[in-house]
Amino acid sequence: MSDSIIPVFDGHNDTLLRHVMNEGTPKQVSFFEENTTGHIDLPRARKGGFGGGLFAMFTPSKYDDQSGIPFDPNDPANFAPIDQPGALNFTNQMFAMACKFERESRGEVIIARTVAEVRAAMASGKLAMVMHIEGAEAIDANFYALEVLYAAGLRSIGPVWSRENIFADGVPMAFPSSPDTGSGLTDTGRELIRNCNEMGVMIDLSHITEKGFWDVAGLSTKPLVASHSNAHALCPSARNLTDKQLDAIRESQGLVGINYHVAFSREDGRHDVDTELDVLVQHAAYLLEKLGEEGVALGSDFDGCLIPAELKDVAGLPRLIEAFRARGFGENLIRKIASENWLNVLEHTGL
Ligand code: ZN
Repeated sequence: MSDSIIPVFDGHNDTLLRHVMNEGTPKQVSFFEENTTGHIDLPRARKGGFGGGLFAMFTPSKYDDQSGIPFDPNDPANFAPIDQPGALNFTNQMFAMACKFERESRGEVIIARTVAEVRAAMASGKLAMVMHIEGAEAIDANFYALEVLYAAGLRSIGPVWSRENIFADGVPMAFPSSPDTGSGLTDTGRELIRNCNEMGVMIDLSHITEKGFWDVAGLSTKPLVASHSNAHALCPSARNLTDKQLDAIRESQGLVGINYHVAFSREDGRHDVDTELDVLVQHAAYLLEKLGEEGVALGSDFDGCLIPAELKDVAGLPRLIEAFRARGFGENLIRKIASENWLNVLEHTGL
C-alpha cells in the first residue's frame, strides 16, 4: 500500500441518521471515539483519508420507530409518504446533531457552506460536512423551510427518496428493474428546482424516477448529479443509471458518485457482503468510459448500506484506492475521483 493517503470527499453518508436513531439507546456511541459499529466516526475517517462529504439528512418513513433502522426493503411501510411537519422536526434533529459535532469538535469538524471552506478544512486536516437533504419532505410548498435551512447551511437536496412526495416520485429498491417506475416532477417540484438553481443548492438525482430525471435535465441550469448511484448496465437496479442518463450527465458536466452498496453493485443484485472490491472498480471503469475523467466520484452510502466486507468501513478507503491503482488508474485520475471532481462540480453549482 502507498504511504500517502489520498484525501477523499464523499457524496453520501447516513451517519447523522444513525446517530439520531441510536441516541438514548444501548447502540449510542461517540462520533469522536473509534467504534467497531457503523462506518464513520472521526478517528476512522482520519485513518481512511475521508476529509469531507455530503452529510445526508434522511427522514425514514418510520422515523419514530427505532426498530425500523436498518429497515427491511421489502416492507412497504418503510416507503410510505411522510408529513412535512414531522419531516422538518426530524430534519432539525439531524441538523442539530451536525451542529453538535461541529461544536464539540473544537474546530476539528466544520459545517462547510462553500467549496473554499471545504478545501481549507481538508487542507488542514479538518472534517468538512456539507449539509444535504435526502427526500425533501421537510420543505413546504411555500419554501419557507428551504430559506431557513439554507441560512443554516443546507447546500444540497435530493428532491425525493424512494417514495412519492409533493415534488416528484422516487424509484423503488427494485431488482432487476428499469428506473422508469413512476411520474416526474410536479409543478411544485419544478419550483423547487428553480429555487435551488437560483440559491446555488445542488440537486441530487439519486432515487428519482427516470421521468423525474429527464424533467430536471430539461429544466436545471446546473450540472446533473447523482450522488450515490451506479451503472445500470452492470447492475440493473432501479437505483442505477441507464447509459442514456449517463450521456445527459456527461453533457451537463455533472457527475456520478459510486455507491458501495453491494445490492447496487453486483450484477446479481444480492445482499452479499462477500463482494470483491473489484466490483466497485468495474463500475468506476464503466462510468469513466461513459462520463470521462471529470464525471466520476465517490458516493459511499456509508452508514446507510451493506458494503463489501473487504472495505469494512471508512478506514478501509485506502484499500479501494489501492484497487483503483491495481486496475491501472493513474494518481491524477485517482485524485479526481477521490475528491477533485466533487469539489469542481459543487463549485459550478454555486457553492
Ligand atoms: Zn440513498
